[in-house]
Amino acid sequence: MEIRLDGKTAIVTGSRQGIGRVCAEQLAKAGAAVVINSHQESAELDEVAQGIANAGGKVKAVAADVTDSKQAQKLADAALELGGSIDILVNNAGGLVKRVPVSEFDSGHYEKVMDINLKTAFLMSHLVIEQMKKQQSGKIINLSSQAAHDGGGPGSAAYSATKGAILTFTKSLAKELGPDHIHVNSVSPGFIVQTEFHDTHTAREVHDTISSRIPLRRKGVPMDVAHAVLFLASGLADYITGQTIEVNGGLYMY
Ligand code: NAD
Repeated sequence: MEIRLDGKTAIVTGSRQGIGRVCAEQLAKAGAAVVINSHQESAELDEVAQGIANAGGKVKAVAADVTDSKQAQKLADAALELGGSIDILVNNAGGLVKRVPVSEFDSGHYEKVMDINLKTAFLMSHLVIEQMKKQQSGKIINLSSQAAHDGGGPGSAAYSATKGAILTFTKSLAKELGPDHIHVNSVSPGFIVQTEFHDTHTAREVHDTISSRIPLRRKGVPMDVAHAVLFLASGLADYITGQTIEVNGGLYMY
């Protein structure tokens, strides 16, 4: 069955590369008008926009640090300008930043990790709620992580804690917005390559050996995550809220 999102408008935060980029491209391919974003101006963001436009999609690129409310507002404004509605919000922006053991606690690092992974999702959700309530419809999809369940790899306590918080936030917001027909779910990726995340922060040895621990015997790619996002953004998920879809090849089961 082909998923179509014609007439819908989506925002994907942190979408100049990796998982966010492929989510934006797939939402556009399904017919949604898409606002893409990076925390700063970048040639990569322009390239993503160009690629979507060349394929016949409707797109607007917005450089904005979505930890800042004034800058984040630009994404909501752009969606309304582009498509006249805000139907889908993918809270994808996030990252590990660097690996820091709790024994070497660094408050600057801690705050940055909390802000980019958790504050961004609170803030962007807050900024689309009024419009989604007006519409009496909407889909908010948060990027959590396998780390929310198993504590993540070395030096990732702050990051893993934010992703656990994202799961709890997803449930609270699903309860708050369910009566207005706004769905809130998350996707929890496992080990996904072709992203800065593991390509930058994870040892080569882990890359070389992890597939043998994955029941489906391969690492994930951004498209695997984008398919789950596309499903949750679509009418096929109209009776699903407050849930998370695990996209990890069976690496973690709970
Ligand atoms: P990535 O580093 O390639 O992409 C992260 C994106 O977030 C970048 O484009 C970056 O510009 C953007 N970003 C960061 N801070 C921002 C800010 N303040 N404002 C706007 N944009 C900002 O990594 P990815 O793997 O594609 O990560 C996407 C999401 O998936 C993240 O939330 C990450 O935590 C989650 N995730 C990834 C994996 C994995 O294995 N790659 C596993 C679990 C969860």
